[in-house]
Amino acid sequence: MSYQTVNPFTDEVIKTYDNHDDAYVEEAIAKGDALYKQWRNDPIASRADALNKLADVMSSKADELAKILTKEMGKRFVEAQGEVALSVSIARYYAKNGADFLKPRDIQSSIGPAQIISRPTGVLLMVEPWNFPYYQIMRVFAPNYMAGNPMLLKHASNTPMAADAFEKIVQEAGLPDGVFTNLFINYDQVNHIIADKRVQGVALTGSERAGQLVAAEAGKNMKQSSLELGGSDPFVVLDDADLSEIQKIIGGARLYNAGQVCTSSKRFIVTEKNYDKIVEMLKTAFASAKLGDPMDPETTLAPLSTSKAKKNLTKQVRDAVEAGATLTFGSVEQNQPAALFEPVILTNITKDNPAYYQEFFGPVGQVYKVRDEAEAIALANDSNYGLSGVLFGGSAEHASEVASKIETGVVFVNSFGGTLPELPFGGVKNSGYGRELGDLGINAFVNKQTIVTK
Ligand code: NDP
Repeated sequence: MSYQTVNPFTDEVIKTYDNHDDAYVEEAIAKGDALYKQWRNDPIASRADALNKLADVMSSKADELAKILTKEMGKRFVEAQGEVALSVSIARYYAKNGADFLKPRDIQSSIGPAQIISRPTGVLLMVEPWNFPYYQIMRVFAPNYMAGNPMLLKHASNTPMAADAFEKIVQEAGLPDGVFTNLFINYDQVNHIIADKRVQGVALTGSERAGQLVAAEAGKNMKQSSLELGGSDPFVVLDDADLSEIQKIIGGARLYNAGQVCTSSKRFIVTEKNYDKIVEMLKTAFASAKLGDPMDPETTLAPLSTSKAKKNLTKQVRDAVEAGATLTFGSVEQNQPAALFEPVILTNITKDNPAYYQEFFGPVGQVYKVRDEAEAIALANDSNYGLSGVLFGGSAEHASEVASKIETGVVFVNSFGGTLPELPFGGVKNSGYGRELGDLGINAFVNKQTIVTK
């Protein structure tokens, strides 16, 4: 496996990195373990200043860092700037709230007063994907840094520059040796790290296949794991939905980051009354998307992350159409160069169509017509995934109640919400388990130790 930066807008190979050998990995684990043993004795709040320093350094290099993303995985420059800003806000959020989230909790027991305290557990491994290269790291790094768990990173093989840049920022901010080591390693080395007794857990974001394999290694070695594995998120439109609000956000809900977002809306589930209007809205939004150079401010739709991703998505669309889906917008053949992919809308997808249960990781929208609310919820839940969802209905009270029937980790009612530092993030079913961000995220890999005193 080679770690290589290829510009998806041009297919030009920019840089190839050498893999790290086992000795380098051993040194990274040893340094992390030594730091964990030191951190066990330090108050949590003592780490906050350095996390703010990291945020400062990242902020000061925002455009330089953003350019790396645009070059490496094709994200529009403005979106890349947004990702850097979001990562900075996550660092600041945990610097401010981390100690409070982990403060001791008193309970009374029949033996005597007891306290639940939060202790670090040791070195962690994170396995991260290419779609938000800095954000994915930061949402694991910031909370676990505050909690006292040093970290190792195995990033996606197509975003090595971003991984390298993040490590350099950590060093520049003056964080201690061993706190974060980026590793260019193969899957066998990942398994060896998980098996190492100094390593206490693994957090993975990526595909179901990667999640299954990495979680199986963690289970075999009795290590904690958390998995965030994407979704085929429903966007439910009920009879009394405010269509003018939907019109403002529907394009972005599907096309942001070229549609390569685990929580972007992938299945639009619309009652009969609004079906034609929603299809028209989506068509208009897709038709106005300007596909092109992600550095060009005029571009509104970026290329996919790689030409391989384009090939896979094209095949998914072809298979869907061959199995009877209607191509309501766009075409099966993708004739633009490199990883540029023109948006597609699929309708009339029946349950026997492979597309019905698949995640389309790119600018492909599926639209389903349903009779009523009950059918909408049943269809929203007829998915192997359960990450997030959107529901538009007239009264906020009723819509919130309906939203609670959707089997996902989060539902946005009458809005399309992105990720925020304070909102826990994660799913159910094949979307994985565990939560990142918010107060839940910082508790993922801590030892909730109960001290009972007679
Ligand atoms: P992968 O799951 O293959 O990649 C995610 C990360 O997991 C990468 O760092 C990858 O490394 C690593 N990985 C994969 N297999 C293993 C393994 N056996 N052991 C250790 N590490 C492993 O995703 P892809 O990039 O192939 O994307 C495929 C699909 O996954 C997408 O189309 C989408 O459906 C989903 N996905 C979901 C994401 C989300 O945000 N939830 C993000 C990205 C993808 P390497 O790159 O070296 O293979």
